[in-house]
Amino acid sequence: MERAVVLLKGNICTVPGCKKPYETLDHRIPWSNNGHTSVENLFPMCKEHNGAKGDMQYNTWLSVKDHQPRLPVDGGNERIVSEKDPAIQ
Ligand SMILES: [Zn+2]
Repeated sequence: MERAVVLLKGNICTVPGCKKPYETLDHRIPWSNNGHTSVENLFPMCKEHNGAKGDMQYNTWLSVKDHQPRLPVDGGNERIVSEKDPAIQ
């Protein structure tokens, strides 16, 4: 499954502004919130960001991390997810 995630989403940390190669896969919806270990829910992430995020929801963590509302992400992983989401189309 890791191979599929990296093929679809790239091998760079998914956190905006981070250019590090991924070192682990992050559960975007955490295990503790019934997040699945699936290609849809796993995103490449460096260990530093994965450790900092811990068990938080990804979007919540991003807003806390930057101490400001989340800015739109230009392209990359977010766009791929959006294209698969029928609610957005
Ligand atoms: Zn990172």
